[in-house]
Amino acid sequence: MNEIIRNTQSSVAHTSLDPQDWNEFRALAHRMLDETIDGIANVRARPVWQPIPDDVRAAIKSDVPREASDLADVYREFTEHVAPYATGNVHPGFMGWVHGGGTAVGMLAEMLAAGLNANLGGRDHMPIEVERQIVDWMRRLFAFPESASGIFVTGTSMANLMAVLVARTAALGRLARQHGIGNDGALLTAYTSRAAHGCVSRAMDIAGLGTDALRKIEIDADHRIDVAALRAQIAVDREVGFKPFLVVASAGTVDIGAIDDLKGIAALCREEGIWFHVDGAFGALAILAPELASQLGGIELADSIALDFHKWGQVPYDAGFLLVRDGEQHRQAFAQPAAYLSREARGLAAGAVWPCDLGPDLSRGFRALKTWFTLKTFGTDRLGALITRSCALAKYLEARVQAEPRLELLAPVNLNIVCFRYRAGDAVNREIVADVQESGISAPSSTTLNGKFAIRAAIVNHRTEETDIDALVAAVLEFGDRRSGGVIETEAPPLAAAQ
Ligand SMILES: *Cc1c(COP(=O)(O)O)cnc(C)c1O
Repeated sequence: MNEIIRNTQSSVAHTSLDPQDWNEFRALAHRMLDETIDGIANVRARPVWQPIPDDVRAAIKSDVPREASDLADVYREFTEHVAPYATGNVHPGFMGWVHGGGTAVGMLAEMLAAGLNANLGGRDHMPIEVERQIVDWMRRLFAFPESASGIFVTGTSMANLMAVLVARTAALGRLARQHGIGNDGALLTAYTSRAAHGCVSRAMDIAGLGTDALRKIEIDADHRIDVAALRAQIAVDREVGFKPFLVVASAGTVDIGAIDDLKGIAALCREEGIWFHVDGAFGALAILAPELASQLGGIELADSIALDFHKWGQVPYDAGFLLVRDGEQHRQAFAQPAAYLSREARGLAAGAVWPCDLGPDLSRGFRALKTWFTLKTFGTDRLGALITRSCALAKYLEARVQAEPRLELLAPVNLNIVCFRYRAGDAVNREIVADVQESGISAPSSTTLNGKFAIRAAIVNHRTEETDIDALVAAVLEFGDRRSGGVIETEAPPLAAAQ
């Protein structure tokens, strides 16, 4: 061994945070891994979710831990106080919001990524190539050109925000990043449907354009944007001097999974010279399912697509993604010259476009690895088949609801989301959702449709089976019967639409 290396190695041995006894550490690490695998393998033995007891909530509150603790003790605290009271989306009975189930494979990949502790902001190392490989796979799946670019982000909320920023810079020119949005920026208007996710409006706010500049266009009975109304609103806005710059279409609305007329919107945007962004948070990955992909027709014409691998992609949280057709426009919105980030022809600082040129983050983790493992280990065909299966299960739930006189379907079932209710008022149904969640049998969420409180089941988890649907229906009926027998009906004011 080289003399210099040997000398430096011997002097640091006992000051680092590495374990003093690797064997002891290894034994505990193996136990943690075994118990975590058992937890996933035996997930059905547990309640989907359980309320956090007061003493558990209190137990983790403490002063700043200035003294060291045994790893084994900290782990025991985790197993007793944290793990049993998680959201429950690993469980097949979890149907609330749109939560992915994750996989044991994804869990291992997270561990491997943490072992590397790679910083994916930039520089020349293979983890960056793994992320670039996934960008290329997404580009191929959505038939984007080779000049497209993409980047992992926390989730679709962030990806939608970044799309607004890219579209804003494309509309105003790069100087707007220096001078601010100015008078021209104050005239920019964006368009989405009334059923769009609330993060679109938040993105307009954060981008400095204001939520008033987002026009929320009417939807049809199937919750798809009314393209004629969209066209008319754009014309009205142009007439009075606004500058329409962005349309955000939904590929899978959060409330009922509706997919906008992407082809129609693409044509309109092309005619009008407007940026066409698709919020495909969960729906975009239906591109992997041959039976469903045609419903996404037109997505390949988008200027940008936001999606989440952590939903239907079954990758553990978090793994959002933004794909942009014109990689140069993407870079123009975020790249910044900085001496300490300068690129070199060789060495660790090589490689032209770094992820930090494509988004607001500099230091970034290796989200790409768990996605790479998931896509490669299962193959996209199998993931696509699971997406198809989720939709079949939603149809099964729809049929169960329609066959049961005590239940009422509240929205058409497009993809994997079923909105229904027990035939009683809002107050009873609100209690039913909480009862079912607290029972640990199942975890639906809720929304409001046409002013009615709806029980909402989104089938996303790859572990969910027909028996889980049956358990949800049985629980809703049981709690509904109990509640409608006893509770005196009072209509509560409708909740704000799911956003
Ligand atoms: C989940 C979702 C979002 C938000 O995505 P996050 O990953 O939670 O940030 C946006 N739009 C739709 C349609 C969604 O379903």
